[in-house]
Amino acid sequence: MTNFEGNPGKVLTWSFEIRCSIFGIQFVRASSYGSSSDRYRSYNSYLREIFGERVQKIPLDAGFTCPNRDGTLSRGGCVYCDQRGSGSGAMTHRGESLEEQIVKGKDWARRKYGASKFIAYFQSFTNTYAPVPRLRDLYERALKHEGVVGLSVGTRPDCVDREVLGLLASYKEDFLVWLELGLQSAHDSTLIEINRGHDVACFDRAVAEAHAQGLNVCAHVILGLPGENRERMMETARHLGGLAIEGVKIHTLYVVKGTLLAQIYEREEYRCLEREEYVELLLDFLERLPPNMVVQRLTGDPLPAELVAPVWVREKNQTLSLIARRFEERDTWQGKRLGNGGRVLG
Ligand code: SF4
Repeated sequence: MTNFEGNPGKVLTWSFEIRCSIFGIQFVRASSYGSSSDRYRSYNSYLREIFGERVQKIPLDAGFTCPNRDGTLSRGGCVYCDQRGSGSGAMTHRGESLEEQIVKGKDWARRKYGASKFIAYFQSFTNTYAPVPRLRDLYERALKHEGVVGLSVGTRPDCVDREVLGLLASYKEDFLVWLELGLQSAHDSTLIEINRGHDVACFDRAVAEAHAQGLNVCAHVILGLPGENRERMMETARHLGGLAIEGVKIHTLYVVKGTLLAQIYEREEYRCLEREEYVELLLDFLERLPPNMVVQRLTGDPLPAELVAPVWVREKNQTLSLIARRFEERDTWQGKRLGNGGRVLG
């Protein structure tokens, strides 16, 4: 078991019990939060708890498509989805093999962070949208690379069945495995508006089936979706907490060239969140999440050349600085509004 040290020397503002284990979230240990960076359970610190060092995720484009793009459900895709399937485009646009991407990603992470452990992150499009033998081949080609200690697979909740989940679960003995499921909003009317092609119940079923196989689930959510006010976004936070999901990725909705959302934005039918608005909503959202949920992303990272709006999302460091400052000024933290037993106070 990992020996997780708390936060010695920091002002003790609150404490909670984290459930974690080498490859899951299973043992209980007390922790405390005092500095701004400790006010939420970050992905980097979670990985350090397990591996004792920095572990870098390597985003991969394995050449998949998506039922919401190939005509099975629709051809337009989610309104914000770009031609790269919300990924790098390394294979689909530049023709780089999986192996080339892994070697390049590892070299980059070694130079930038001195990292020697990596997670193969199947990011672009729908990474379970193929027969199981092809999935097995792709995942195992990634996992056999030296230094790869984990597998993260991004997909849609309507593209995971028992067989696929069983395949992912079969790697748990030797690797850290996460299933990343797009939800975006816990409101069916919003999912229709953004053309997700599935409903909230579908997501809930996928989470239950993944949990039945012992998999960690990370939900992707977006703040600032069309038609969503603060209360609706907070309901999404409560929904995730109620499902006991292990992780979450959060970002603001941004407009990328060539998307349906870009057309909506050009017609002035959508207004992007300002940075300050987003940060307040983000902290409100985090206050309603269980404190042991791993927060894998606090803000988005669009390709600058592809971005239409808002321009502030290009300045990721400034957004992260504002988040840190507002955590302090509001003296808040992940789970603050959860009472004992997980009751949401307001
Ligand atoms: S599910 Fe993902 S890949 Fe498919 S259209 Fe939506 S954002 Fe794009």
